[in-house]
Amino acid sequence: MRRAIWAVLAISVPIPAAYTQSEAKLIDSAAQALGGKARIQAIRTITIEGEGSDTNLGQNVTPDGDLPIWKVTDYQQTIDPGAGRVRVREVRTAQFLFAGATTQRQDQGLDGDIAYNITANGVAVRASAAAARDRRVDMFRHPITIIRAALDPGAKLSNLRRQGDQQLVDITTAKGDRLILAVNTATKLPARVMAMSDHANLGDVAVETWFLDYEDVNGLKLPRHLVTKVDEYPQFDLRVAKNIVDGAAGDLAAPEAVKSAPLPSPPVITVTAEPVAKGIWWLAGSGNHRSILFEFDDHLTLFEVPLNEARSRAVIDKARSVVPSKPLTEAIVSHHHFDHSGGLRVAVAEGLTIITYSGNIAFFQQLVARQHSIVPDELAQHPRPLKIRAVDDELTLQDKSMEVRLYHLLDNPREGTNLFAYVPRDRILVQADLYDSTWDQYPWAANVVHNIELRKLQVDKDVPVHGEIQGWGDVLQTMQSKRSGAGR
Ligand SMILES: [Zn+2]
Repeated sequence: MRRAIWAVLAISVPIPAAYTQSEAKLIDSAAQALGGKARIQAIRTITIEGEGSDTNLGQNVTPDGDLPIWKVTDYQQTIDPGAGRVRVREVRTAQFLFAGATTQRQDQGLDGDIAYNITANGVAVRASAAAARDRRVDMFRHPITIIRAALDPGAKLSNLRRQGDQQLVDITTAKGDRLILAVNTATKLPARVMAMSDHANLGDVAVETWFLDYEDVNGLKLPRHLVTKVDEYPQFDLRVAKNIVDGAAGDLAAPEAVKSAPLPSPPVITVTAEPVAKGIWWLAGSGNHRSILFEFDDHLTLFEVPLNEARSRAVIDKARSVVPSKPLTEAIVSHHHFDHSGGLRVAVAEGLTIITYSGNIAFFQQLVARQHSIVPDELAQHPRPLKIRAVDDELTLQDKSMEVRLYHLLDNPREGTNLFAYVPRDRILVQADLYDSTWDQYPWAANVVHNIELRKLQVDKDVPVHGEIQGWGDVLQTMQSKRSGAGR
């Protein structure tokens, strides 16, 4: 299975035997170009300070629109490659309309196999084994660390090949992490590094970092610009203001409390079923992504398969247990944002017809077709075709038992593909991301009110995907009092 992934990245021309240069020679020449093997091996720490931008993957207005951007300031990354220690601090500020904290301070560390995060109150909390693995691989997204890893006698180098003006080599580090290094054939400097990773929505992704604008620092060549992509999406663009070698790095060891703490246990998923009207249940429980179950004459329909496979699997099971006499046949996916379409693949694997805004279809086809071989999900193990029912402006699902009207949310500044639902019999609004009783602010409150008025809906109660069930009067009052920002 791993082999198949590797092959994807290996599409390039083998170097003809006459020109064969060994993998080790390529690494040696790259080390030479960076400042020499001895100089590289002697480095105790590297500190990078700068600014840049981070994207909010899977949160664009439309599936092919630009990604929302976090502006990153006060970025500081310190690496101790010998000890396998890293500390990254940054401040990020949302450059998009956002209902949560628009400025966030992040502080993360890695000490060998122990990953940890420092909370806003300065408390160190141990992070998962997966976070430790990811951060260890991310540590190699720098020319010095990847060359040092390649020079380690425990590393395995293989598959030297050429791609345009670069030579590529596969590196398996002494710890078993697999990366591909590309070296510029003219300058001999490392040009980029790639590693495969699993993404809950996208499945197998190549995460690639380019090293650009090298400068001379104390006899070394170091990049002033690092650009990281996840699959086809931009992820992080860092402009280095200062490259510091062997500076005052501070203590990079994990705090004692973290070292002795056990690994965090995976979150326990619970799904409750609260009846809200005849044939309508609110499936809440753990977390803040709920679903709504509608009972029709001869079938059941879910509104939202959110977050990820585990959450949506539990929601689907719960829905089936609430009305065991009728089959669950449909899932309405409110919009394409990754936390709302995270259950798309498991819903397809379970044979459900997906109901969504027409502008999501091409993107959902892609999500269903993508390879998930690193972490095979239910759809990867039991492939099924995507059955989809598209909604343009509105659609009414109706039989003798139930009437649910679906409407496309118009002119929202943050969500272009959102469908919300209305049950006329009970005057219930069912929605995702229009309103959440727990948000800090409501920058698109005016747009929500505008949409409800436009559709001439008489809403008594909001039964949401995020937050608590509330009377519509309370919703309006909360939105009014914490409006802030623009938007309609
Ligand atoms: Zn949401």
